[in-house]
Amino acid sequence: MEHYTRSSLNYFTPRALDRAADKREDTARLAEELQAPSTRFIPVWQDRNLITEDEIPKAVFLPCADAQALVSTAESVTLLGRDGAGTIFAIGLPAEGDAPLDGMGRFRNLRWAAALLEEAECALLAYAKAMAYWHHHHRFCATCGSPTESVSGGHARVCTDAGCRWTHFPQMSPAIIVLVTLGERCLLGRKAEWLENMYSTLAGFVEPAESLEAALIREVREEAGVEVASMRYFASQPWPFPNSLMLGFTAKAASEAIRIGEDEAPGELDDARWFTREEIREGLAQGTLRLPLKLSISFHLIEDWFDAGDLGPLREIGE
Ligand SMILES: [Zn+2]
Repeated sequence: MEHYTRSSLNYFTPRALDRAADKREDTARLAEELQAPSTRFIPVWQDRNLITEDEIPKAVFLPCADAQALVSTAESVTLLGRDGAGTIFAIGLPAEGDAPLDGMGRFRNLRWAAALLEEAECALLAYAKAMAYWHHHHRFCATCGSPTESVSGGHARVCTDAGCRWTHFPQMSPAIIVLVTLGERCLLGRKAEWLENMYSTLAGFVEPAESLEAALIREVREEAGVEVASMRYFASQPWPFPNSLMLGFTAKAASEAIRIGEDEAPGELDDARWFTREEIREGLAQGTLRLPLKLSISFHLIEDWFDAGDLGPLREIGE
């Protein structure tokens, strides 16, 4: 499968959105769009998104008239872009006090809500959440400590100190995520804090002055004690919890023995194992194994490998 097609299987990237980067500096136009009847607003509060409480929940997009009062008191307003229905802004609401917009839904963690929402909506919520998060954590200049102000339609913040004027741009943390295989088996690990019986691909943040490839070799060695012989790029997924970009790879192992450190730091692996396709099929069918959510690149890495065998499609097992 081609890389772009493969990354399209992953949630959290709004493909039908024109990001309208060429409109971000046009302040007169932005002011008009903020008042236009067709404009919709995605509210974010305390890093959470507003979801209806219907049996099948939906994302709440505020119509222009309902959003005006919020815009004037918002912590941040970001131009997300345009789709077929009009312009879309994210509004980061002040974190203090009771939840706003009572009666329209509940502010939920997107990680909880994602599997229930339609994919295109979910992707817009992820974008809104990522921008509101970034604004909230960059209200002050990292260079001199003065307040910053939002510019470029919310896609940059500039220090208000006349002698500094440092410009801050949205940041993401790149992380590698990898399915390592050895012959007909794949390497999956689990962390102690995960749901019982949950196993997933290995992942870790890329460090400064480190290539993706070097990070992959280091993470697999640190987490499982396994050496990597070769690797291949798979696809990527924005992961807004809070601001990662997952860079997916497949890799072939050069060694088999798994070593989990005895004095591992919290958050490191609690267990790692080589699984055959049959063990995965059995585990899922009997409920003794859980895999990551189907919207994640980790599931797609496992699925791509599993489906190359002769046990049928992974996503149909246990359904
Ligand atoms: Zn400054």
